[in-house]
Amino acid sequence: MDIQKIREDFPILSRTVYGKPLVYLDNGATTQKPRMVVDSLVNEYYSVNANVHRGVHYLSQQATELHEASREAVRRFINARGVSEIVFTRGTTESVNLLASSFGEEFMGEGDEVIVSVMEHHSNIVPWQLLATRKGIRLKVIPMNDRGELLLDEYEKLFTERTKIVSVTQVSNVLGTVNPIKEMVRVAHAHNVPFMVDAAQSVPHMKVDVQELDADFLVFSAHKMYGPTGVGVLYGKEEWLDRLPPYQGGGEMIQHVSFEKTTFNELPFKFEAGTPDYIGTTGLAKAIDYMNAVGMERIAAHESELTAYALERLRAIPDMRMFGEAAERGAVISFLVGNIHHFDLGTLLDRLGIAVRTGHHCAQPLMQRLGVEGTVRASFALYNTKEEVDALVAGIERVRRMF
Ligand code: PMP
Repeated sequence: MDIQKIREDFPILSRTVYGKPLVYLDNGATTQKPRMVVDSLVNEYYSVNANVHRGVHYLSQQATELHEASREAVRRFINARGVSEIVFTRGTTESVNLLASSFGEEFMGEGDEVIVSVMEHHSNIVPWQLLATRKGIRLKVIPMNDRGELLLDEYEKLFTERTKIVSVTQVSNVLGTVNPIKEMVRVAHAHNVPFMVDAAQSVPHMKVDVQELDADFLVFSAHKMYGPTGVGVLYGKEEWLDRLPPYQGGGEMIQHVSFEKTTFNELPFKFEAGTPDYIGTTGLAKAIDYMNAVGMERIAAHESELTAYALERLRAIPDMRMFGEAAERGAVISFLVGNIHHFDLGTLLDRLGIAVRTGHHCAQPLMQRLGVEGTVRASFALYNTKEEVDALVAGIERVRRMF
């Protein structure tokens, strides 16, 4: 992999902040975008733009073709059986809300249970909690060990006859833990319970195959995988999506409307009310093209090497405390150094041009489990280099000397 050549595809990586070269290590929050993704947005606005699905005219048909080709690109990317299983949303958060709302309405009642894990992002906790308030359902939480690995024995014990769905992240956005989703899905299915995978932090980094995982639902955001903001995906097995009621009402999601009775459109349009971000979906397809051109295996290998290097170098820093030591881990490292507040460390690193995340990372229950208020998080993407890891380490050393 020629990293320098790859970096040239991302114009922002050559900018400076505070007169220092940008070292962008906040990829877990959002990745930067290659030129071909941004160009596709501009080109489509300039030369194709028209509303999709309901126009007889040339541009509308061309825009529709692009939009639906993007659905096919997503289908292939996660190996879904059909495009009817790919619902476009605004992002992971909206995908989870859609599922919690529709699934909850159809299949859950007072006293029913959803299993989540202690390392979930708020967007895979709060939608279920809203349902808890509305419908009286209960959340059950899979605990973890001190290395940040879910306790599978405890997971099995959480199932009761009231368990209706399991919803767990594939990769923790704080600990980097890669959860054994395939095995966890198997356990859920043995109890006749469907499984939703939060793949926000996995699809940018590894090959994800919904059929291999046997996931019933899987959600992710384009902006964390080199695509544009405002677009996301809800994958659902057709037999499940067929049985779920619509989430929002409006144009596009209907077949026929009268004041007496409205019938809904076929899948996946039943879940896509209103004008979709058809320009953004083209951008997502371009991001998938980009990742495929580099190669998912090569991306995974590069990031794994980089993470191993970063772990080794960071561990050598005195007073370093790392959070997350799972055997299977992704390109995310959370840490604290001595008594330095995470916010101070992040702010001072920023002054050196190094962008990291600080705070609770939208995972406050996990912070409680770790016994901290927040951490500093460095998260890598395919364009990061060992030199950038060296810059991070040198930056931390410098801040340490100041305290
Ligand atoms: N789940 C996980 C694991 C995440 O890391 C994030 C983003 N930090 C989300 C869900 C939410 O994604 P979005 O903000 O794009 O909806």
